[in-house]
Amino acid sequence: GDEDSDSVAPPVPSISASRREHRWGDTTSYAAKKKLQSWFQLPNGRWELGKIVSTSGSESVFSLPDGKVLKVKTDRLVSANPDILDGVDDLMQLSYLNEPSVLYNLEYRYIRDMIYTKAGPVLVAINPFKKVPLYGNEYIESYKRKTIESPHVYAITDTAIREMIRDEVNQSIIISGESGAGKTETAKIAMQYLAALGGGSGIEYEILKTNPILEAFGNAKTLRNDNSSRFSRVVQCTEGERSYHIFYYLCAGAPSTLKGKLNLRSASEYKYLSQSSCHSIVGVDDAEQFRIVMEALDVVHVSKDDQESVFAMLAAVLWLGNISFNVIDNENHVEVVEDEGLFTVAELIGCGVEELKVALSTRKMRVGNDNIVQKLKLSQAIDTRDALAKSIYACLFEWLVEQINKSLAVGKRRTGRSISILDIYGFESFDRNSFEQFCINYANERLQQHFNRHLFKLEQEEYIQDGIDWAKVEFEDNQDCLRLFEKKPLGLLSLLDEESTFPNGTDLTFANKLKQHLKSNSCFRGEREKAFTVSHYAGEVTYDTSGFLEKNRDLLHMDSIQLMSSCSCHLPQKFAANMLAQSEKPVVGPLYKSGGADSQKLSVATKFKGQLFQLMQRLENTTPHFIRCIKPNNLQSAGLYEQELVLQQLRCCGVLEVVRISRSGFPTRMSHQKFARRYGFLLSESVTSQDPLSVSVAILHQFNILPEMYQVGYTKLFFRTGQIGVLEDTRNRTL
Ligand code: ADP
Ligand code: MG
Repeated sequence: GDEDSDSVAPPVPSISASRREHRWGDTTSYAAKKKLQSWFQLPNGRWELGKIVSTSGSESVFSLPDGKVLKVKTDRLVSANPDILDGVDDLMQLSYLNEPSVLYNLEYRYIRDMIYTKAGPVLVAINPFKKVPLYGNEYIESYKRKTIESPHVYAITDTAIREMIRDEVNQSIIISGESGAGKTETAKIAMQYLAALGGGSGIEYEILKTNPILEAFGNAKTLRNDNSSRFSRVVQCTEGERSYHIFYYLCAGAPSTLKGKLNLRSASEYKYLSQSSCHSIVGVDDAEQFRIVMEALDVVHVSKDDQESVFAMLAAVLWLGNISFNVIDNENHVEVVEDEGLFTVAELIGCGVEELKVALSTRKMRVGNDNIVQKLKLSQAIDTRDALAKSIYACLFEWLVEQINKSLAVGKRRTGRSISILDIYGFESFDRNSFEQFCINYANERLQQHFNRHLFKLEQEEYIQDGIDWAKVEFEDNQDCLRLFEKKPLGLLSLLDEESTFPNGTDLTFANKLKQHLKSNSCFRGEREKAFTVSHYAGEVTYDTSGFLEKNRDLLHMDSIQLMSSCSCHLPQKFAANMLAQSEKPVVGPLYKSGGADSQKLSVATKFKGQLFQLMQRLENTTPHFIRCIKPNNLQSAGLYEQELVLQQLRCCGVLEVVRISRSGFPTRMSHQKFARRYGFLLSESVTSQDPLSVSVAILHQFNILPEMYQVGYTKLFFRTGQIGVLEDTRNRTL
């Protein structure tokens, strides 16, 4: 019934009615009259707080704290909040909601180690880049008992748990932000809280133990973050960055017997790892980390045998990178060099040396009714080798996640309800943006739509549907940009897939097709040569199509899959079976047809889209809680707060709009029935009429909830933030 959509916003301190009367709009003239504090933007972009001394015509005399006096255009001044509002813990409480005030408020808190601030229903977290004294059992206890009110990941997680139990609806905690903004740390902090509430079932220990595994296999050092959650970095690595942590852990920490079995060398001897001269991270002991990962694998019940297989697969990936080829004719055809690399890989995955050579240097094709064998050229052979390495690693990661999930599920009391924590790569915009950024930003565009929908659209639609008084608030809609990506047949993804299937397609022909078909789209702009620009919700990004087609084609050929299925080791066999099963499954989006023996394979972009849709579908069925992580500087350094950088991130995720809509709206709602049932017993006098609406109104009167603090809809009651708190407290005390 309608109960499913009932929701109570997280508790935020309520604001006095008089303060709320202030409008956040243009109030400078009022400020000018009262000689109030205002913000003025200096030529260097920094906002300075000062006082208006006098105003005449359109100009004001403005004094800065250092004694300087400026003559400025009055309309360039922006109202500042009274000192009493310095550092409020919810931006909703600001009398004047403008960019400098928000920036100042966040900075005020940040330099006092209050890194969390609410923006209406959203939690803003600013990365401290140092240890802050906000975590641990004492804090967890306090949030559990609600003796602390200040915004925190713990508080959000607590709300999610309570709403899951109260509404019997699955919850999600969606953590977003740029690379290095603190998403993964935040997810861990949320898991810490969940684990602490596990009630001694042992599951808390296991949940926390899964972290080192997922991090070791899923994270790598990048230039922006020493511990960045990454994908597809097995075969390539930029200078200064590292591949997945686990490779270095293994090389540094494997006990000597294991080393011998896997023929392990030091990291610098593997080509995949030596592309970057960076092999270690300051403050990280790779060998010690390996021990932690092994222990974690024990905890999630990966048997010793399986662990050894896992490490063998990792070694196989590393050794694959060392396999090289000799060109044997003037058409650039190759054969595999018979060296240690080749023999070790065959040994590790359990296949014959000959079979491996054939799989890496030839391709079986079906032409008409005949099977023919084609020799590979050097670049094709290298791609085939790298594709095999990548897919072994990807399968291994998937397999591990499956093991972890199985182990967490076994023998545990399951309520059937869940809290999902989503730690997802944020919007990326670099000097050079490639296929990876293209996929990441597309995913973020979808997430942003989810966010918009949830916070703005659903909100407004619900008000209108329930007949309450509501002035529409404008918000950014990114539907056009999504359409640019997803439209068939003339959208970015479709055109990319189409071009990827053409034997003569190149990155340049792809770029030209885009320009030809999409030039009328308002979110698209063709650039010189192979580049194009997309207007994302978070800003414009120019993509260089070099490498797009190759990255989009799934290069793993049937021959490689068949090789794996014929291996004597059980992991490669399992991986091959999974891949075959996947390519037979009905999937979202069009099938990728490349003709020949391996038709029906999906392109990378299409697979990505399918997975994204699955994710969105899962999220749609949950009550979302949003955490926006903010990176205060690009140097990973503590105490440095760069206004412009913060502002740009705040704008990207629409924090101000959220606050605006929450302030003017009624974020808490409950059906008449539920409200009457939930609080009816608190009535001191009985009501003659027992219908839910009458009971509800009687409750509102008894608790002195002011008329401007709620609205009565056809089916629901709508409240401004903080209003339901008194009722909940009284109820909890009485129960
Ligand atoms: P993201 O996942 O967004 O790329 P991370 O969560 O890995 O970023 O954070 C990057 C780094 O920032 C961490 O390795 C850590 O040093 C620091 N950091 C992030 N959040 C916190 C926090 N709450 N307390 C202390 N340090 C943090
Ligand atoms: Mg991360």
